[in-house]
Amino acid sequence: MNVLDAAIQDLVMANHILANENIVDAYGHVSVRHPENPQRFLLSCSRSPEFVAADDILEFGFDGEPVVPGGKKPYLERFIHAGVYAARPDVNAVIHSHAADVLPFTISTRPLQPVLNTASGIGEHVPVWDIRDRFGDTNILVESIEQADDLASTLAGNSVTLMRGHGFTAVGRTLIEVVKSAIYLPLNARVMMAALSLGGEIKPLSPGEIAIRHKTPIDSPAYTRAWEYWTNRVKLSRVGACSCCGGEHGQHDTDNARGK
Ligand SMILES: [Zn+2]
Repeated sequence: MNVLDAAIQDLVMANHILANENIVDAYGHVSVRHPENPQRFLLSCSRSPEFVAADDILEFGFDGEPVVPGGKKPYLERFIHAGVYAARPDVNAVIHSHAADVLPFTISTRPLQPVLNTASGIGEHVPVWDIRDRFGDTNILVESIEQADDLASTLAGNSVTLMRGHGFTAVGRTLIEVVKSAIYLPLNARVMMAALSLGGEIKPLSPGEIAIRHKTPIDSPAYTRAWEYWTNRVKLSRVGACSCCGGEHGQHDTDNARGK
């Protein structure tokens, strides 16, 4: 398998992992930088991540437009990825999600902080980008390269930026790294909210702790075993899926019992 096909295969699996872990639903998307051309990136056409297949993956330039025009319809918010890749040469993968657990922190002055070891990848500082600050009243979606550039300037050198009333954008050196950040970010938000409800002060990770954890080699088992785990969970979720309708046999039994 060549490097492009391998990148597409991993990207398809990342879509399925994020859907299976409830980080994305009908909305949200994940991309990778093109393995052979750093001026381009790979992203699905406008399809819910759970259903993305290899032939849905399109190639985009930093203008946010498909390299080959006239194909499948792209996501409206593909510009997020274009803006981040153009601004951050160190970034090789990007996830945009509307995960509900982080949303309170997108509309509050209380900053989201890393409080869990597994969420150290989100970094010490998690900024909040508000599209209204520069663009006034909009539909809240990132639909232009100008808006994406503004988002990237708020993201700056961080690993995650929250998006006011909308969700988050996370970046990583690799696909595995950003998938891990996206999976543990909502858990981190839930734990922080629960701790705050107890009253008193909370103890976030220290900058030193985050720096030490960041030194873990990106190809170490700490990352690769997580990818194996998430991949197997995707496969297990499909066990029993019916070839005729994609539903589960158990659901067929239920439907039959109800005379459907
Ligand atoms: Zn969005």
